[in-house]
Amino acid sequence: MDVKLQKDELARAVTFKPPLYKQRYQFIKQLVSSHKPKKVADLGCADCRLLWLLKFCKCIEVLVGLDISEDVMKEKMHTLFPLPGDYLQPSESPLTIILHQGSVAHKDPCMLGFDMITCIELIEHLEARELEKFPEVVFGFMNPAMVIISTPNAEFNPLLPIATLFRHPDHKFEWNRAQFQNWAQDAAAHYDYTVEFTGLGAPPPGKDVGFCTQIGVFVRKNLKNREPDRPEKYQEHVYKTVFKAVYPSLKDEKYLQNAVVNEVIRTAQIIARRLLNHRKSEFKKHCEDHVEIEPRFRSSCCFLRHLEYPPLVEADNQNMQPFINGNTVYIPLAKLFSFPKVNQLCGTFEILSKLITGKIALSNDGSTVMIDVGYENEEQET
Ligand code: SAM
Repeated sequence: MDVKLQKDELARAVTFKPPLYKQRYQFIKQLVSSHKPKKVADLGCADCRLLWLLKFCKCIEVLVGLDISEDVMKEKMHTLFPLPGDYLQPSESPLTIILHQGSVAHKDPCMLGFDMITCIELIEHLEARELEKFPEVVFGFMNPAMVIISTPNAEFNPLLPIATLFRHPDHKFEWNRAQFQNWAQDAAAHYDYTVEFTGLGAPPPGKDVGFCTQIGVFVRKNLKNREPDRPEKYQEHVYKTVFKAVYPSLKDEKYLQNAVVNEVIRTAQIIARRLLNHRKSEFKKHCEDHVEIEPRFRSSCCFLRHLEYPPLVEADNQNMQPFINGNTVYIPLAKLFSFPKVNQLCGTFEILSKLITGKIALSNDGSTVMIDVGYENEEQET
């Protein structure tokens, strides 16, 4: 084909914005946000791009990738590790990401119990004998609540700038709509799923060729009254695990304790600062107005260290009130527990007490957090 002809072909060819692969990922993300699956697997995950996007979906607790090629998975699998920010602010829900090397033509118990399985542009890469086994492995054995399969629609090819028979040299076949839908309906009927067809990349007006990417969304019938198969039942693991990352989460007591201790210290310091500011301005006002200093301030100078502050108590909730004594601010745990973030993290007063004991200075009876404010006085004196 001469160069000018090639250019003309390309100019006439249909292109998509955003590119179709991004639209496919977006389609899956939307399904995830509407169905809220906890366990999701991406078969034929290649360089893990879809997995990387899905790791930000808060509902997902287990995210698994499977590909026949370990090398292609390894290209970007480092992007699936937790980042420093994940440790600084652990998520409320757990997340484990695992990558396996293996074939969709083989059964491994690690693929049981999934809510959603995606197969994006995978089936057209399967050899005939693998494709034959695929429905039994994915629908029959893995048997997830939902399966999403996308594959090229061969009817759209004349509108694309492709010089070869198939869109990609590794494609073993490309199906038209009838071929895909017949295959999908047979599989759905055999394994007790419903299937609906949709697609991405609409054809130009007047071209009745269907979407560029055709998609089947399969939903298992009897979603509720079915016992999931137990992985322990199976002995043989045929996949090789090549990556595993467990994200820090507040479900893990170690991270929860860290978060609670940090939040309690932060809250206690804010309370201590407010209390000091209040007392300072109260005392300054007394000095400036030349008002006779109250007996409780008489032996004091302007520096806090020398003030013996009495507790700021109110009759009705005495045991909730923080107070200053010497260089220490005392903040009852009950007061700290009333702050929404502390309350939400701990759930119960007992858990709060348990998590901070030994980590934060407490009064002898463990009912009050003690914050040293001696540094305040040093600042005042210099
Ligand atoms: N799903 C990816 C996406 O949407 O970006 C791209 C998929 S890529 C076009 C097809 C992938 O299927 C390749 O990474 C290939 O290694 C993988 N693959 C081919 N045969 C497979 C098999 N039998 N089992 C698992 N993965 C297979």
